[in-house]
Amino acid sequence: MDENKSKIKELEDKLNVCNNELEVVMSEQQKAAKLLIRRDLALSKANEKLQALDEAKSEFISVAAHQLRTPLSAIKWILHMLANNQFKNDDERSQFTNKAVISTDRMIGLVNDLLEVDHIQSGKDQFIFEQCDANSIIESLVSEFKSLADDKSVELRLDLTPGPKIFADKIKIRALLQNLIENALKYTQPNGSVRIITNYADGFLKVIVSDTGIGIPDSQKTHIFSKFFRADNAMRQETVGSGLGLFIAKQVAERHGGNLWFESKIGEGTSFFVTLPISTKEN
Ligand code: ADP
Repeated sequence: MDENKSKIKELEDKLNVCNNELEVVMSEQQKAAKLLIRRDLALSKANEKLQALDEAKSEFISVAAHQLRTPLSAIKWILHMLANNQFKNDDERSQFTNKAVISTDRMIGLVNDLLEVDHIQSGKDQFIFEQCDANSIIESLVSEFKSLADDKSVELRLDLTPGPKIFADKIKIRALLQNLIENALKYTQPNGSVRIITNYADGFLKVIVSDTGIGIPDSQKTHIFSKFFRADNAMRQETVGSGLGLFIAKQVAERHGGNLWFESKIGEGTSFFVTLPISTKEN
């Protein structure tokens, strides 16, 4: 009888050990299951991100291709006319050849903007910071734009405050300011005016490019710095434009530790403000 009891006890002990081992295995399994769920969630999130990136890339390619198609078609048509000697006279031939040159310039500009956007987005964009004189950059831009402003009968006024140098990538800042001035002239009707003002405060240079142009509709203001975005009124007035300039400009200003924003009233005009840090070194 005693023997039986001790056997039962032995079996019970063994069962207990087995139970304990089973519990350990089960708890490990639960941990593994939780880890798997977490991994699954992380993978789903990564997948969603990849899908969104893929969609953004497809949209980018599709818009870019559409933007390139128009000038390319124009050039193809002109080349076809030239090849078949179909222009009425020399005047007409040179008029259309010049149009082909303008279309080619547009495509080069667009391709450069696309490359810049790609560099910004992939983090490959390199900045070379140095001390630069913003006022002299603006003056040289204004002298370049003078004849365009005259042709459009738009007054181009400068109100520059002498001041310290900024710490910036000269080429990128020049392109940023060029975009703002070019837009101001592009979206301002004849007899309007464009004013460029500089001043300094709190360690920053502020450049204001102000125009009396078409303005930006309230409903579209939040999209102005988005890639490829062009407001309705801008597209109606000026068919040429990629909607990439301000996206690039905003990124460039922010990479400098500065900012870019605007105020606008439809039908009255727009002011773009850009701030850039002043160089802390001796000027
Ligand atoms: P683009 O001028 O080639 O269309 P941008 O990125 O430079 O591209 O500008 C985006 C949009 O912002 C323009 O299409 C226009 O709708 C609006 N915009 C920019 N500057 C002005 C301005 N000075 N006045 C009115 N609208 C402007």
